[in-house]
Amino acid sequence: MRNEQIKKTKTVCTYCGVGCSFTMWTKGRKILKVQPEIESPANGISTCIKGKFGWGFVNSDDRLKRPLIRKNNKFVEVSWDEALDFAAAGLKRISDKYGGDSIMFIASSKGTNEEAYLIQKMARQIFKTNNVDNSSRFCQAPATTGLWRTVGYGGDAGSIDDIYNSELVMIVGANTAESHPVIATRIKRAHKLNNQRLIVIDLRRNEMAQRADLFLHPRPGTDLFLLSAITKYIIDNNWHDKKFIEERVNNFDEYYKSLDNFTLENAEKITGIDKNEIIKVASMIHSVKSMCILWAMGVTQHSAGSDVSTAISNLLLITGNYGRPGTGAYPLRGHNNVQGASDFGAMPTYLPGYQPINDKNAIKKFEKAWNTKLPMNPGIDNVSCIENIDNDKIKAMYIIGQELAETGPDTNMINKSLEKLEFLIVQDVFFSETARYANVVLPSCVSLEKEGTYVNTERRIQRIYKVMEPYAETRPDWEIIQDIARRLGYNWNYKSPSDIMDEAASLCPIFSGVSYSRLEGFNSMQWPTYENGDSSKYLYKDGFNFPDGRARLYILKYRPPIMEDDDYPLHLNNGRMLEHFHEGNETFKTPGIRDKAPDTFLEISPELADEYNIKTGDFVRVTSRYGSIKVRALVTDRVKGKELYMPMNAASSDNGINLLTSYNRDPDSDTPAYKELPVRIKKL
Ligand code: SF4
Repeated sequence: MRNEQIKKTKTVCTYCGVGCSFTMWTKGRKILKVQPEIESPANGISTCIKGKFGWGFVNSDDRLKRPLIRKNNKFVEVSWDEALDFAAAGLKRISDKYGGDSIMFIASSKGTNEEAYLIQKMARQIFKTNNVDNSSRFCQAPATTGLWRTVGYGGDAGSIDDIYNSELVMIVGANTAESHPVIATRIKRAHKLNNQRLIVIDLRRNEMAQRADLFLHPRPGTDLFLLSAITKYIIDNNWHDKKFIEERVNNFDEYYKSLDNFTLENAEKITGIDKNEIIKVASMIHSVKSMCILWAMGVTQHSAGSDVSTAISNLLLITGNYGRPGTGAYPLRGHNNVQGASDFGAMPTYLPGYQPINDKNAIKKFEKAWNTKLPMNPGIDNVSCIENIDNDKIKAMYIIGQELAETGPDTNMINKSLEKLEFLIVQDVFFSETARYANVVLPSCVSLEKEGTYVNTERRIQRIYKVMEPYAETRPDWEIIQDIARRLGYNWNYKSPSDIMDEAASLCPIFSGVSYSRLEGFNSMQWPTYENGDSSKYLYKDGFNFPDGRARLYILKYRPPIMEDDDYPLHLNNGRMLEHFHEGNETFKTPGIRDKAPDTFLEISPELADEYNIKTGDFVRVTSRYGSIKVRALVTDRVKGKELYMPMNAASSDNGINLLTSYNRDPDSDTPAYKELPVRIKKL
């Protein structure tokens, strides 16, 4: 250590989709400081607590050090050769016996683009299955569905700069100050300095709601009605952008007619929002020249997540808020590379670059490049794979960097399903809850120990560099996947992640011209990219992503949410905490952050606390139809009435939110309705 030099390396934060980049100062494995740079394209000189101080887990003693194989129900350390032979033989055995469609592949949304590309290539080229997915199924798949229906691309329509420069920002169902802090900082600055208007629609009076010019708190699950009523009121008053609609949008008349039922009076009855507040929102939209709408899991993790996302896009279309600076739709990505994992093909119905699996020209191109015959039947996604394990269709899984046993809905059910698998490979940084069910556990590097690229929420492709050598015997995911492919008889020969990117760029029009040399240092590219190196700061300037270049207004029907009943009279919502990342298996292993926020809690409104005689710090039992947990109460006016709130991350596996959640899903995206959770509580 004494002889080691101080090294400065550019990297990208792995804690959320903002994609902050910075210079990391290290001495050996010791992280000295994180220094954001003025050249950092997404964040400039800002970071949040996680990007700055959230790296302790990298040197945690809990990290996996060597491969493990389960023998006689005990995990024993083995050599890499033995583990890789065992993994390859297990996949081959299952494929020979039941066919390639009996295996499910899950890419990590924290892994690099190149790693997502390779795991989907393994599924398609070697096992002839489209059963490959990533974490977007648990969060933003409904937003993607809503945008595909209306404007054609699933990605954010513009850039973080557009959010900053917009005259009006509307945030629906997103806790931006805690989940995407650097974007929140820019909104706060624009609100204060540039007179940017801010509207927040949420169940909880979070920090952005407290700062907003207008905060609306509709009844749970009624956002679609509220947004459609705002849209109708704008059109009724002739405030819609007629020129934009005439030149660029299809089926306006039919769509407007479908809004007949979304009157102010009906909206007031269903959403609980006073009709004057709805008029106020519509008037604010009418008074500005540009508007961005941001949303996250408060919208998507509902049984109507895709439809509400569609309603947001419809509202932007009728007001002409696409294709110009300062406008657009922004479904904020949670995992740092959930966008990239989807972009690079870890999806059951799309090849890399969003080329449909039934597009004959795309299939022909990939078959030629990969010298194989590709499957054209849609694959299974990583939520329905659970019922397909129960139905005996899925017999094996290869899970990379996803804590399915804690993040999937209804933990008890998922654990039973994982137990039933005939073969399970888990590739991860820690011995996760999911790893308990594995036959083989492969230890992988963290982002600081490898090279690659990520895509942030604004479609920005950025490079990461190797900051330090791999911990113990860990290896980069791309090398592990390649070594298994070779053992299965495929002569993959990628010397570095750059070779993988070159192949992906040659096969995907949206990544034309992407190369590591163009991404050197803090340089970045936003897809769709072009051969000459040009990027797309915002989408839809010259038309929407449909053959006729015109957007589609999509007709929607309101479906009431899954509500409380007599046995479960309260509504439990959940979301992120500033300090922790998702299930928390990295941040709870980072001492400074863990000490600041050591465990989960249940937020209770003052009126409910009075009714149940609960004080802050009391233990409470929370019970749903699917399970029960014990948790400490926090009495706060951030929530009101019969609504409760819990962070999604817990320090221990016996009080995680998903012990309570159900397998109910949005039928259009298969995303679990984590936020529609009727419960009851009891003071302990
Ligand atoms: Fe990391 Fe997101 Fe914080 Fe940026 S805002 S430092 S990407 S967690």
